[in-house]
Amino acid sequence: MKYLSTRGQIENIPFKQAVMMGLAEDGGLLLPDEIPRLTIGDLDMLSKLAYPELAFHVMSYFIRDIPAADLKDIIDRSYASFDHPDVTPVVKHDDLFILELFHGPTLAFKDVALQFLGNLFEYLLAESGDKMNILGATSGDTGSAAIYGVRGKQNINIFILHPHNKVSKVQELQMTTVTDANVFNLAIQGTFDDGQRIVKEAFNDLAFKKKYALGAINSINWARVLAQIVYYFYAWSQVRKQTGQERICFSVPTGNFGDIFAGYVAKRMGLPIDKLILATNENNILTRFVNEGDYSIGEVHPTLSPSMDIQLASNFERYLYYLYGQDSSKVSRAFSDFSRSGKMEFTATEKQQVANDFLSTTVSDEQTVATIENFHARTGYVLDPHTAVGVHAAQTLDLSGVPVVCLATAHPAKFADAVNQAIGQNPQRPACLEGLEQRSKRCELIAADTGKIKDFVAAHAL
Ligand SMILES: *Cc1c(COP(=O)(O)O)cnc(C)c1O
Repeated sequence: MKYLSTRGQIENIPFKQAVMMGLAEDGGLLLPDEIPRLTIGDLDMLSKLAYPELAFHVMSYFIRDIPAADLKDIIDRSYASFDHPDVTPVVKHDDLFILELFHGPTLAFKDVALQFLGNLFEYLLAESGDKMNILGATSGDTGSAAIYGVRGKQNINIFILHPHNKVSKVQELQMTTVTDANVFNLAIQGTFDDGQRIVKEAFNDLAFKKKYALGAINSINWARVLAQIVYYFYAWSQVRKQTGQERICFSVPTGNFGDIFAGYVAKRMGLPIDKLILATNENNILTRFVNEGDYSIGEVHPTLSPSMDIQLASNFERYLYYLYGQDSSKVSRAFSDFSRSGKMEFTATEKQQVANDFLSTTVSDEQTVATIENFHARTGYVLDPHTAVGVHAAQTLDLSGVPVVCLATAHPAKFADAVNQAIGQNPQRPACLEGLEQRSKRCELIAADTGKIKDFVAAHAL
């Protein structure tokens, strides 16, 4: 098992190198050179496992260069930080199954991947004797999950830029109350876009990047996708046990296409997934792609589900590689055309293929609020606005009676304002947020200036 680039311009590399490379050096994304195909016997075996063991088996199909005992240990430590014994429990309300992915330390599904990635980075750096300085910009969820993934870890420092006073209070406090010596919160006097631009400029300074061993933690790292494949298997087993049905659908609130791409890989591995429902908010480039074959740049609109407010989906290229029959030159051409024209077009056959894999719909803020309200009134269960986007899609699309699992990507307490708007009360706060306001904080207010931020990193880097 080796890893290739969707642009086809690098030698295939082993898993460990793929993790450290992040983005492929030819500008593409890394993918396994072969997706293992499981038998129904394999699926039966996997169905019997507790989450950490399941994670070990599923990941082992893709990792050949880490000894089993070490991988087991990394996985066990990663999921011990979750506050539910099932790690990602499945609950049923109305006729929907809800896969709760928010039991990690920052209450969002990104913990499932970033708890694992933090431990994996630490393990690989100890082995190679290298150091890493992670630099990233966040609009909220990714930053706190990344910080919790690497806090206190050896040989890693992390610098996370967030726009000052422009993330939710809970999100801000989740980041700034982490006072470990290796964590640097930078509140920039600017917007999220400024943060992204600064990070990009720092990474484009190749001498700077090399000197300070800059690392990224964004959603294009293959190890993140890999960790997310596991819960599709887990949910499938739970639903099959309860319903006796083999084929199920998943509804996935989607932004950068990382979460739903993991489901697509699970499907290619032979997990009997009928349809993947790609649910978007008003930032609906991916819904236009699925329903009309139109992938074209739009403007970012702020919504009640901010973690899905994207313009371009960074993991989309991985799907395109398969849609194009694993033809990396076709992928490269599509992206160079795209950078000129701002759009991609698809043939009737390709559109048919997309329709075999996905259903999609766009959900407005109004519909999101109404879904939280109605679902609460009927079941007493409180959805966060991201999850509500997926639930609305599952309720409105025709799934011909196939059971559907909605991925719950955040705890409602993270988005209390939107929830309050819907049900007239604040959601219950889980224990990990107790006393958040009173904890000591560490954060640097800094100008949105690439030079100043590079100086800060240089002064505090490992
Ligand atoms: C990041 C995020 C998403 C979107 O996931 P992608 O992998 O980017 O599609 C959805 N909901 C929440 C709460 C998130 O944090």
